[in-house]
Amino acid sequence: MSKSHKTRIICPNCQTPGEFEIWDSINADLDPELREKLFSEDIFIYECPQCGHKTGITYDTIYHDMQHKFMIFFSFFKADDYSYEPLDLSDVPMLMKDYTLNSAMILFQSAQRR
Ligand SMILES: [Zn+2]
Repeated sequence: MSKSHKTRIICPNCQTPGEFEIWDSINADLDPELREKLFSEDIFIYECPQCGHKTGITYDTIYHDMQHKFMIFFSFFKADDYSYEPLDLSDVPMLMKDYTLNSAMILFQSAQRR
């Protein structure tokens, strides 16, 4: 299941307040339309309902493909030379039965420490 939360946003063009949906995790199998929006980057665009101005919103999200058994941590906040090596799952048995955002975050952080 994909998870999201809403955040308040102010249009930088006309200063009209609005709401933007941030996707904390995306399940490609259960929400194929989100997969499309992720790869087209539409989920990172806020369109002001007042003036139509489009603003790019950068946030981290986890992409989860159950069918092909992989996760991708999308982040805008990594150094350019960050090494995106596949994560070793052998020391994280809980992930196999609990595919929540939290376990994925722990997995990511443990990989960062190496
Ligand atoms: Zn606006």
